[in-house]
Amino acid sequence: MSTVRFETPDYDAEAPVLVVGAGAAGLVAALAARGDGADVVVLERDPLPRGSTALSAGLIPAAGTRWQAAAGVEDDPERFARDILAKAEHEPDPADVARLASLSAPVLEWLADAHGLDVSLVDDFRYPGHSALRMHGLPSRSGEELVDRLREAAEAADVAILTGAHATTLFATGDRRVTGVEIARPDGSCERIGCGALVLACNGYGGNRELVGRHIPQMRDALYFGHPGNQGDAVLWGEALGAATRHLSGHQGHGSVAHPHGILITWACLMEGGVQVNAEGRRFADESHGYSEAAAGVIAQPGGIAYSIFDARIAGIARQFEDFRQAEAQGAVIEAPDAATLAARLGLPADALAGTLSEVERLKAQGAADAFGRDFAGVPPLVPPYRAVRVTGALFHTQGGLVVDANARVLDPAGTPLPNLHAAGGAACGISGSKASGYLSGNGLLTAVGWGYAAGRAAAALSRRRPLSSSAAIPS
Ligand SMILES: Cc1cc2nc3c(=O)[nH]c(=O)nc-3n(C[C@H](O)[C@H](O)[C@H](O)COP(=O)(O)OP(=O)(O)OC[C@H]3O[C@@H](n4cnc5c(N)ncnc54)[C@H](O)[C@@H]3O)c2cc1C
Repeated sequence: MSTVRFETPDYDAEAPVLVVGAGAAGLVAALAARGDGADVVVLERDPLPRGSTALSAGLIPAAGTRWQAAAGVEDDPERFARDILAKAEHEPDPADVARLASLSAPVLEWLADAHGLDVSLVDDFRYPGHSALRMHGLPSRSGEELVDRLREAAEAADVAILTGAHATTLFATGDRRVTGVEIARPDGSCERIGCGALVLACNGYGGNRELVGRHIPQMRDALYFGHPGNQGDAVLWGEALGAATRHLSGHQGHGSVAHPHGILITWACLMEGGVQVNAEGRRFADESHGYSEAAAGVIAQPGGIAYSIFDARIAGIARQFEDFRQAEAQGAVIEAPDAATLAARLGLPADALAGTLSEVERLKAQGAADAFGRDFAGVPPLVPPYRAVRVTGALFHTQGGLVVDANARVLDPAGTPLPNLHAAGGAACGISGSKASGYLSGNGLLTAVGWGYAAGRAAAALSRRRPLSSSAAIPS
């Protein structure tokens, strides 16, 4: 139970900068604060830092990077910001979006140069809503590798990461200054750690069914595919401290999680020319809109199930993702030489499936749009043998959260920063607005890495009581 107590206890230890959560946001915040000379302690409830970061594909969007330049990709932060705002129908604060878009390239280059992350550009697939190739990832394209490399970098930088340290209570003064945190240990003991500045990097409330039901009722019973430890502590603590929250109904869903295997199947399978059908063998949506809003559409199909159908060429593209390779290894990817065999293997009505696939190919050949509005012009044909995966829709993570300023300081409803509280990643209000459709691929890790960096630097400055500029310089 996350609570705030307005009292100042005796502390067992003190940390100038204390971070709750060791996912991408917390570890980047710790590295940034450490880079500015602050001593940092990170509290992580799990025995090993994983978080939703480890469940992700680890792809971070960034505009104007050297990797894009090397690949001849033209891009810049303004263009990136336009894409984010267009996807979210201009709901997010444009200043937040501009700040994160402008931080994206220098922070990624800093992670590569100062902390050895082996970053490269995903150059064979453009994610829906992005007007340029701008997804970057580590060699395995897995979030597990991302969180492991960040943890190793933090350890190398002498960041203290306390695992098995579940933050349960914040202590604050009457003017909302957080003086420290109580942690519960696996053996049932408690410790209290005082702090100069606190960074909340404990993600959102996707793992808290009661909060999901309150803020996102249509996803109350959906499979939650994020990290179960993300119980909404940041929002609950922030509310108790009088902080502002925004867009609590915002979330990222995903309409393509292999079922029952529980493995993410990249949306590239559909964007590259694949389609989804339901148990009746019929399509039900424009798959090119995006995977986030597709979740509710898949959940609404009979049994909450759909089948993603593609071919060997597309499987070759998808195979760059560790998740897809896992799905193949576990038998989630069905192969069939023709539509009739595919229908038999999936248990779908053969005539309906054959009709659906031939109609899709007719539209592709004609470069026409379908009744759902999907434009098939220029989309390559599906060439047998086919591949297919039985999938369901899932809630990945929440996008609403604590309202922050350009330095990731938590604000109250009047826009006044709380004295020493910062939020990053899923703990902060994201840049996806109030609807699932507002989520542009990569918004999750962009806010983790971008706000993490801003929060870490701001917390370090605060812990040294240095004046804080809103455009803190990026380390070279
Ligand atoms: C399957 C999946 C795929 C995704 N793919 C992508 C992608 O490719 N690109 C992208 O941009 N985004 C992606 N996302 C979203 C992305 O993973 C998240 O937005 C991002 O990881 C959030 O980072 P975070 O550091 O805020 O949270 P997390 O990585 O979840 O870290 C939060 C940490 O806080 C800890 N914690 C929570 N409460 C407490 C507490 N009280 N005390 C101590 N510790 C606590 C948790 O144990 C956890 O380790 C994906 C998400 C999922 C689920």
